[in-house]
Amino acid sequence: MVSNRKIALIRFSLLATLIGVLSISSFAGIGFIHSLLATSIGTNGIYDKVVILNFDDGRKSQFTQAKPILDKYGFKATFYVVCNYIGKKDGYMDWNEIKTLHKEGHDIGSHSMNHVRLEKLSKKNVEYEVGQSKRCLQDHGINPKSFSYPFDSGTDDKNVINIVAKYYDLARTASSPITFLRCDGWKKQSNQDDCRTYTDKDGLTYANRYTVRAWSQDATRIEDSASDNIMADKFIRIVDSQIKYNNAGTIKAIPIIIYHRVGESGDRYNTDIKLFRAQMKYLHDNGYKVSTMADLAYNDKSNYLYLKDLKAETEQPIKRVTTPTIAPTTNATTNVTTPTIAPTTNATTNVTAPTIAPEGNPIIQALKKLFGLK
Ligand SMILES: [Zn+2]
Repeated sequence: MVSNRKIALIRFSLLATLIGVLSISSFAGIGFIHSLLATSIGTNGIYDKVVILNFDDGRKSQFTQAKPILDKYGFKATFYVVCNYIGKKDGYMDWNEIKTLHKEGHDIGSHSMNHVRLEKLSKKNVEYEVGQSKRCLQDHGINPKSFSYPFDSGTDDKNVINIVAKYYDLARTASSPITFLRCDGWKKQSNQDDCRTYTDKDGLTYANRYTVRAWSQDATRIEDSASDNIMADKFIRIVDSQIKYNNAGTIKAIPIIIYHRVGESGDRYNTDIKLFRAQMKYLHDNGYKVSTMADLAYNDKSNYLYLKDLKAETEQPIKRVTTPTIAPTTNATTNVTTPTIAPTTNATTNVTAPTIAPEGNPIIQALKKLFGLK
């Protein structure tokens, strides 16, 4: 018979070993803590880093090249497809591929019927491009919640906006590396403090739910003639730039990143597969939550955009740490429970990783609980 005292001693030495491992070197300790926190929960146990990934035009390479990398990390994205391209145009996805994405939990949005500039069209043709493209997807069992403007065209035209508003909850355009969910961060362009669609004088606002602003890294690379190395750094700066706006679980700014071709060649709107792989790895290794446009919603009372799924998940942030599992799992949200020490070589880890005293550390507390210690 083993005495309770002995069990307590064994528990204590196990815990001491774990704490020892944590503090062997500050780098390994930070790496370990960081890998625990790299489950999309922030330093306070609440999400504070979110990215939305968009793929425009419905290119086949998004399915063949990008999807396997998204799958590796369990990331879901929004795919904006052009209805008349699907299964009809070389280099574009067919309906089987679109339906597979949909079934697997990706968000499918509309990118019009024919990928034309809406600002030049008659009202009737805008109706067709915007409304018929929604029906086209519905005919295939997909109910798109958002629209993206081909060539970002039509976003300052009230006729276009009003037609888009008839069919969709939200619509996306480009030209901003970060999106302010309260539409209050574009001081040069606007003095808005919320996301109302119209000003008091009945003009269109700069940012509203029908002009959700995203960043096309392909467009930036072309404009700046930037190398992939420069783009890799730029991506990190852009996704990290939200840190100064978001805290204590209040997400006020997130980057929405637009891709077109992935791992193709012969076109300027293409992201090299190595660059894409590195970017997704960065998001994973640094604890970003990856959401979709379907996760974004509009609050009619506050006139703010917000992320729907955060509240329920942030109510029990510590729960993730308390369930012990033995086998390592590839699921990013359960990595918390697998104490493998994998110091990350990423330099930014040291900047973003929290330095928490063992006593106040939720992970240490969870480990203590696990071992029955107070
Ligand atoms: Zn497009």
